Amino acid sequence: MFRFGKMYERLKDIAVKPWLGKMMPFRIIGGVYFVGTYQASCHLVDTGDGLIMIDPGYSKTAYLVLDSIYRLGFHPQDIKYIVNTHWHVDHAEAAEAFSDLTGAKTLIGRDDAEKAARYFTPDILVDDGDTLTLGNTRIRFVHTPGHTKGTISFFFDVEENGKTYRVGSFGGAGTNTMVRKAFDFDGCREEYLASLNRMRKERVDVFIGNHTWNNDTYGKSLKLLAGGENDFINDKIWIEFLDNCEKRLLKVIAEDSM
Ligand SMILES: [Zn+2]
Repeated sequence: MFRFGKMYERLKDIAVKPWLGKMMPFRIIGGVYFVGTYQASCHLVDTGDGLIMIDPGYSKTAYLVLDSIYRLGFHPQDIKYIVNTHWHVDHAEAAEAFSDLTGAKTLIGRDDAEKAARYFTPDILVDDGDTLTLGNTRIRFVHTPGHTKGTISFFFDVEENGKTYRVGSFGGAGTNTMVRKAFDFDGCREEYLASLNRMRKERVDVFIGNHTWNNDTYGKSLKLLAGGENDFINDKIWIEFLDNCEKRLLKVIAEDSM
């Protein structure tokens, strides 16, 4: 299997040869599965009454995601909803392909709908506090502007060995849009900090990243696939991650004002 080394070197290669980012799909916890690539996470939630896909990814990696879905024994036709955390190409480009293939309804934060239109026409616009219920799963969305204006984060509970765990994700962590020349919208830095503070109030037992390097999805997957411990269960890394996001933003602001 392809070994991931320094992230940016590899990402350069992967941009040209998307198959280099192929990862083995695996179950994270409860009904939550990883079917994404090294470039961009894609999660599948088996609700017992259909599947919810979160962040379909690039069009050029859709065949890898599809292969992962089949490898886990699922059928794409069972996907009922496709959630897009924000409008960027690496998360939302394949939304149209997957909704065409499955008939699933697409969701995105209301303030990202206009820019998402370059890749797909959203069926459902998500507002702060909205929920999506399917089968045994109820996903709660929080509007967390900053990385983009309409970024949505999400939280839901899963069961594993008689215990309930809160799964959570921050929908847009990248500070690449915090550089003045790349602002998604005016005031994005202030909104990003406010979103981080809101997120700190959430309890998260299982943090899932929408990029694999946010939570070392790859390293943890190797351990799980080898029959090792489930390092995704960790109620500390959520806050550590948010603190790290804030540090990165402060660095960007400092460098940008030089
Ligand atoms: Zn993004």
